[in-house]
Amino acid sequence: MSTKRDYYEVLGIPKNASQDEIKSQYRKLALKFHPDRNKSPDAAEHFKEVSEAYAVLSDTEKRKTYDKYGHAGVDGKYSTEDIFQGSRVNFEDIFGSGFESIFANLFGGGGGGFRFGGFDFGFGRERGADLVYDTELTLEDVLRGKQEEIELPSENPCGECKGTGATPGTSMRTCSVCNGHGQVRTSRSSGFSTFVTVQPCNTCKGQGKIIERPCSKCKGSGKQKGTRRFSFEIPPGIENGEYRIKGEGEQMSNGISGDLIVRIKVKPHNKFKRDGSDIFYDEEISMIDATLGKKITVPTLEGAEKIDVEAGSQPNTIIKLKGKGLPHQGSRGRGDQYVRLVVKIPKKLDKHQHKVLEELRDSLNQEE
Ligand SMILES: [Zn+2]
Ligand SMILES: [Zn+2]
Repeated sequence: MSTKRDYYEVLGIPKNASQDEIKSQYRKLALKFHPDRNKSPDAAEHFKEVSEAYAVLSDTEKRKTYDKYGHAGVDGKYSTEDIFQGSRVNFEDIFGSGFESIFANLFGGGGGGFRFGGFDFGFGRERGADLVYDTELTLEDVLRGKQEEIELPSENPCGECKGTGATPGTSMRTCSVCNGHGQVRTSRSSGFSTFVTVQPCNTCKGQGKIIERPCSKCKGSGKQKGTRRFSFEIPPGIENGEYRIKGEGEQMSNGISGDLIVRIKVKPHNKFKRDGSDIFYDEEISMIDATLGKKITVPTLEGAEKIDVEAGSQPNTIIKLKGKGLPHQGSRGRGDQYVRLVVKIPKKLDKHQHKVLEELRDSLNQEE
């Protein structure tokens, strides 16, 4: 067992710190060690350490126990879950709302979780796996948004035993090793300290109950593999990237469900290029049309649009079609479409055309 640091030292506060000091110092450290902001490999460990120190010191009763007996006193009296669960701390109160995702994701994969002031944490209960779904969108999909309906793997309750894992009609008995708690607590004394460890019960695999005759269909697991349909909306204006839908990954009946990660890739378009909510399009026009001017039709994401090319338009002139771009992601309004005039110069001329152009050159030279 590694040596635990003093909670006051962990938070960097004096022994007589007030509740306000404890709270503000915790807020500071928790944000500092938030793994999304802090890329050091120890960040999550640090976060757990400061959170535990905070959970104990912010609770008058636990703080008293800690002040008197130190870690051994707290660990002997409370399980990890008790430390956090019994706390009257409200995370929203400390961080404001919107931090839920940060904290819910922090302890992923770490075998377990608990609720703390309305937030799921990851040690104590099992967390389901994240599922990844890849999807490709066209620019037209980005314009309108898209409804996706997908099939996700899921574990459904076994139809035979209704999820109990026991052959129908047979009974289950309470595990005598853990008395139905599913956990076994062992304490070991060393000098003046008592070390307490809490582990899942081996006999009943943490279930608290023992099945006399396992269901033959599910071999006692109570589950059968199946699928579930899930539909979600991709909002207009979306960019390439990974989007997390909380709680729609692997489902856990007695733990924290994983997340569904939707990876979006917008396919290249054969006519348009995209930059954020703006659309770029190249229109080829002849040298003559650029010179004389012309009404032309250009494609947009919503069909053809008539535009005026003014007489004497220079190569690479850009014409803006206001509001013909894509919706802004997450806000109102739309981007624009930019039409660039690419002026084609004829490469081959017949005799007559050549002559006409020479005459044109001569007359232009005279004007100068
Ligand atoms: Zn079954
Ligand atoms: Zn047991």
